[in-house]
Amino acid sequence: MVAPGLMPQTQASPAPAAALALPALERAALFFDVDGTLLEIRPEPRDVVSDGDLRALLQRLSARCHGALALVSGRSLGDIDRIFSPLKLTAVGLHGAEIRDASGAERRADPRIMDHARKPLRDFVAAHEGLMLEDKGATLAVHYRKRPELGAEALRFLLRFSPADGLAVQEGKFVVELKPGLYDKGTAIAELMRAPPFAGRMPVFFGDDLTDEAGFVFVNHAGGLSVRIGSPEVRTQAQQVLPDTDALRALLMHEARP
Ligand SMILES: [Mg+2]
Repeated sequence: MVAPGLMPQTQASPAPAAALALPALERAALFFDVDGTLLEIRPEPRDVVSDGDLRALLQRLSARCHGALALVSGRSLGDIDRIFSPLKLTAVGLHGAEIRDASGAERRADPRIMDHARKPLRDFVAAHEGLMLEDKGATLAVHYRKRPELGAEALRFLLRFSPADGLAVQEGKFVVELKPGLYDKGTAIAELMRAPPFAGRMPVFFGDDLTDEAGFVFVNHAGGLSVRIGSPEVRTQAQQVLPDTDALRALLMHEARP
């Protein structure tokens, strides 16, 4: 579960989108969640794929901020690369458990951390029709989009696994996930910000879900800009809100104009 200190609670009503202005790209570091932020969420995660316009836009933005652009997702690095292929960007995978930095060097979490949880989760999902287990290696996700009424039971089941084993539960949109407890999107953005080409720039993070709140908190503390995609009614640590992925795309097209 999200640590108590990271739960959305202080800022119930972020500023409206009309007020949104990004810092100059020449001195910004841009971080983007993928699903629900850059691309629409699809019922089947494997169906999500980037269009050529988005790939070109990300490349233009990355060039404008001298390579200080990264994707920050709950997906694995391999799955991120599938979505944006042939583009291979600096990226954070598995909610911070995997990182490929700007030099291309990778750090991946050991999938063996999930060994004792794998079979119990498989059995739990097999016993509940409509649930889907996604084994990403170092994280295990239970999707309940087809059976929303089973969300609370799935969460309770995952909470049986102990933080003493180094695990944590991450909630999301119609998904609960078991992940290594050491990492979150905040620690991952902080790690990238320590090295070139990110160091010394103003971090800007766009996200849409509970897993992104840790990233918003880090960026706020670092004097950057945090932007949540979605309803302004949802409590969040983000400073600003944009209504949907189309609004973000329009903003980015404007920023990347020649
Ligand atoms: Mg998302």
